[in-house]
Amino acid sequence: MPYGYQRMYINGKWVDAANNATIDVIDPARGSVIATVPRGMSHDIDQAVQAARQCFDTGAWPGLAPREREQMLLDLAQMIRQDRLRLAEMEVADCGKPLNDALADIDEAAFILSYYGGWITKIAGDIPPASPGAMSLVVKEPIGVAGLIVPWNYPFLMAIQKIAPALAAGCTCILKPAEQTPLTALALPRYLEAAHLPPGAVNIVTGYGEEAGEALVRHPDVDMISFTGSLEVGRHIQQAAAHTIKRVTLELGGKSPNIVFADADMDLAVAKTCFGVFWNQGEVCSAGSRVFVQESIYDAFITRVSAYLATIRVGSGDNSTTTMGPLISREHQARVLGYVQSAYQEGAQCIAKGSVPDDPALRQGFFVEPMVFAHVTPSMRIMQEEIFGPVMAVMPFATEDEVIALANDTPYGLAAAVWTRDIQRALSVAKKLRAGTVWINDSQPAPSEAPWGGYKQSGNGRELGRLGLEEYLETKHIYIRLDS
Ligand code: NAD
Repeated sequence: MPYGYQRMYINGKWVDAANNATIDVIDPARGSVIATVPRGMSHDIDQAVQAARQCFDTGAWPGLAPREREQMLLDLAQMIRQDRLRLAEMEVADCGKPLNDALADIDEAAFILSYYGGWITKIAGDIPPASPGAMSLVVKEPIGVAGLIVPWNYPFLMAIQKIAPALAAGCTCILKPAEQTPLTALALPRYLEAAHLPPGAVNIVTGYGEEAGEALVRHPDVDMISFTGSLEVGRHIQQAAAHTIKRVTLELGGKSPNIVFADADMDLAVAKTCFGVFWNQGEVCSAGSRVFVQESIYDAFITRVSAYLATIRVGSGDNSTTTMGPLISREHQARVLGYVQSAYQEGAQCIAKGSVPDDPALRQGFFVEPMVFAHVTPSMRIMQEEIFGPVMAVMPFATEDEVIALANDTPYGLAAAVWTRDIQRALSVAKKLRAGTVWINDSQPAPSEAPWGGYKQSGNGRELGRLGLEEYLETKHIYIRLDS
């Protein structure tokens, strides 16, 4: 077990679960146990919430001078930058992605810490008009204790995407990493301590969603839940949190359309469309997995996609030639292959043989090869449901109106991509797409300075950018009578 037994972190101390139960952490490239972590439950969540509550209520974190808190976040960013390789290697072992992708995640996480660090000294209120004998002050305050629940596809990045704005707003927090990928979250406390954050500002409780996660969502002393994960769990969390009227932000799944018009730059459109589906093994909420290609270039597009597939190297993330790692678990591998079966049964045409790789060295891991289905129809399951694996579905379209209707025909609304050299068409289509992000001639960039989030059932609220900070703030109106 290269990473051994790792304890969780509550109130500035390394602790076991109250009942001493543990969870095995599996390397998805080899199927072997690489660590064990505590299986936190409601008692452990109680301890963590109490610590966060105390740190908040005593002002130990929110009461520090803004510039002092800013410096701590900048220090954290700097330490993480210096340790990028160690953290990225841990991420590769934990969730399987290729090392270069993991390095990019760690670098972006460091940037997010410095970005939100910078905001701390710029959070300001407002002075709206009031009657002549009065004055109104609108002040921004931290909402309080934030419960942060993250998935396994970008473990460190998603954790920092929530911790950084929470701390910047002045909140204290409890992070519940995904049970599959707790390692980089548990690497964080050493930096928190080195940056002199007070105990209780950030607490990390490992455990299962139905146990630790559920207890966090239902806890009466938690003021807000920020959740990233599946639609099904998001729906449940919104209901469970309603009991205590918590603020809830939800970053959920997607089934993003990728629209290629006949006048698009074909080389770029093919390369980036493939990237948008196969990047991170397709385990991406915004994967552009529904590909609509205008009739006149449909056959040429499919031919070029087939050629692109031959360049993808499936293997373990620590192999420098790998461009696609394993899926997260044996169950998820079976789920993805189930979608592939459904596509065959419903009559889709597979243009690239994708299944479990033949290489015996990869059989222990949870690998699948990239797959492309042509001549799909909108009602097929692979066009309707989020697969979260490397499966592309391609169908032709004739007109702009037709493709906009097809693109919007989904309960999700996270992202969409449009490929054309005609800027008027690009912008007019972008306006009509019901999605939180629309890429024009690109797929997947999500700069941390800009908001990220879903329309429709892809979520509520926004993460990243200035809006991502505001989710963690309350607004108070102070009314002052001036005449006596
Ligand atoms: P998941 O919903 O199964 O789990 C996400 C987290 O929620 C985990 O930490 C899990 O332990 C926890 N959880 C599960 N049940 C819970 C409960 N009852 N109460 C509280 N917490 C609970 O999702 P996953 O399989 O880990 O991640 C994949 C999903 O995440 C996909 O649907 C993907 O689209 C989505 N996602 C969305 C975004 C986005 O930005 N919109 C980003 C990444 C992933």
